[in-house]
Amino acid sequence: STGILAGKRGLIMGVANNRSIAWGIARAARQQGAELAFTYQGDALKKRVGPLAEQLDAILVGHCDVTDGASIDAVFAEVERAWGKLDFIVHCIAFSDKDELTGRYIETSEENFNRSLNISCYSFTAVAQRAEKLMRDGGSMLTLTYYGAEKWMPHYNVMGVAKAALEASVRYLAADLGPDNIRVNAISAGPIKTLAASGIGDFRYILKWNEYNAPLRRTVTIEEVGETAAFLLSDLSRGVTGEVLHVDAGYHVVGMKNPEAPDM
Ligand code: NAD
Repeated sequence: STGILAGKRGLIMGVANNRSIAWGIARAARQQGAELAFTYQGDALKKRVGPLAEQLDAILVGHCDVTDGASIDAVFAEVERAWGKLDFIVHCIAFSDKDELTGRYIETSEENFNRSLNISCYSFTAVAQRAEKLMRDGGSMLTLTYYGAEKWMPHYNVMGVAKAALEASVRYLAADLGPDNIRVNAISAGPIKTLAASGIGDFRYILKWNEYNAPLRRTVTIEEVGETAAFLLSDLSRGVTGEVLHVDAGYHVVGMKNPEAPDM
């Protein structure tokens, strides 16, 4: 096949449906010639993810709940059995109790704090531990973050704290794995209407705000995130590691409301 990912094999974690960012990345990676494997979280999602995997000739390597280390081990064992090696991984996984994605951050419970940080941050490191062993010819690891890691955003709360820790872990993993030519990067995506995003309070307001105030005067799509991801997964970005690359229509450079934006 041809494309910037021709000859590369990658594991995609976090497809829930055809609106998932992971799905946008998988499609772009496939278009660029990659061979793909998917995990899914539980049997309910298997019904959805199976047909999507089939569309891209991807293999299903099994159920993975990142809170269960044995299920991570199992999917990496399956990848090793099928391919013997791995060139890239895509981690599009986050979770927080919906009740704490509204109101004040200060109300966060210890239990939800630990669970959110475990699923949304530690899981990337847990996956990197397994992937390192299979990336014999170097590799590229990618995770997804959000601007709420850098600045306060309404309702993002504990997820902002988790994303800040995730972005820091990208830098530490990049330093650990650089000597083996394994690169580690994140995409900071602008708001996109997905299943996970529907848990965030006032999400429609956040979408509108970005549309009115981002330099490109619009929000971004999973196709756009996918194509930037394909670049980061490919050798075209071979000098890039430890980076958080914003795919947000430029919103992160804005310091003040656009005076021409309608009142909202
Ligand atoms: P999504 O709901 O489509 O995907 C979230 C995925 O996380 C699902 O596939 C779900 O199965 C998985 N997941 C949750 N808990 C898990 C667990 N314990 N074990 C294994 N998998 C688990 O939503 P999305 O918006 O595509 O989210 C993907 C990533 O993108 C997340 O990290 C999210 O924070 C990030 N992100 C989203 C936006 C946005 O506006 N949608 C913006 C920036 C970053």
